[in-house]
Amino acid sequence: MTIRIGILGYGNLGKGVECAVKHNPDMELAAVFTRRDPAGVKILTPGVKVLPVEAAVGMKDQIDVMILCGGSATDLPVQTPGFARHFNVVDSFDTHANIPQHFEAVDAAAGESGHVGIISVGWDPGMFSLNRLLAGAVLPEGRDYTFWGKGVSQGHSDAIRRIPGVKDARQYTVPVDSALASVRAGENPELTTRQKHTRDCYVVAEEGADLKRIEEEIVNMPNYFADYDTTVHFISEEELQRDHSGIPHGGFVIRSGHTGWDSEHSHVIEYSLKLDSNPEFTASVIVAYARAAYRMAAEGQKGCKTVFDVAPAYLSPMDGAELRKHLL
Ligand code: NDP
Repeated sequence: MTIRIGILGYGNLGKGVECAVKHNPDMELAAVFTRRDPAGVKILTPGVKVLPVEAAVGMKDQIDVMILCGGSATDLPVQTPGFARHFNVVDSFDTHANIPQHFEAVDAAAGESGHVGIISVGWDPGMFSLNRLLAGAVLPEGRDYTFWGKGVSQGHSDAIRRIPGVKDARQYTVPVDSALASVRAGENPELTTRQKHTRDCYVVAEEGADLKRIEEEIVNMPNYFADYDTTVHFISEEELQRDHSGIPHGGFVIRSGHTGWDSEHSHVIEYSLKLDSNPEFTASVIVAYARAAYRMAAEGQKGCKTVFDVAPAYLSPMDGAELRKHLL
């Protein structure tokens, strides 16, 4: 039985989900839904329709899992509970502080309608959260470290673009090598924000703009840059297009801990991601969790789940017997 996927929202992530579905033979794309004029949204899969978002509920019987690819700020808090009333859903909600509230809203909707809704799927939250949980459970006496990058931070790039005189910008978050080395050596260092990451900014300024003022505004921007060592490079529009048009990201989740009667032995657990494309990787994680949502719903489960609630076997296209052959 093929799992029929709907995509709601066709931005970077929506396109990534479309690509991921192509690479999972047990899935097929049923339709893409958008709030924009469907005629203006071009997708890659031949023969699949782009439809207005209002048409989705009428296609309930043709979609097993609806993947919600809207933005976390304003789309998903409304769309995920709304569509959980009609579909099994998966989203990548990443506003960390609001996850408990989002969970409650989706749980109420999915619980009532008898669907499964898996929220906050991706890499952070998502695979990083899972690896922090596993490492903490295995080494209760220890310390967690998360480093992000090198990668593009969309939020920080947007913050720079809002400065008067800035035409375009790309911001990279970069882990500090010496901090990483110390953590990997099991030294359990106390690290400040500034000691863990630096921020590299590539900025295209408008003609005649005061570069000194723009640089000052960036490096002193509270919350975004003031607590970091920030470097600003002014470049041309062509250079930005040529060298900085990708959306790479990644990072490291590391836990160092101790075992033994007197905690005499130390251990370091490390999970690392080096991603050429943040949205395509996030989408690949989401699609595996869509398989889980489908299977869990088929078993009669309902309500909201996070990556913590989904057993790994549900993610794999292999069945239990096949998986047991791969335990070693
Ligand atoms: P985008 O801004 O590319 O897309 C968000 C939505 O914007 C789309 O679904 C689309 O909806 C709408 N949109 C409006 N106009 C356009 C346009 N001209 N072109 C494309 N889309 C348009 O965001 P991303 O896809 O990059 O990211 C979505 C969310 O994924 C982020 O908010 C973030 O929270 C989350 N995320 C989570 C990660 C994790 O690890 N958990 C990692 C990366 C991202 P419509 O088609 O209806 O107009």
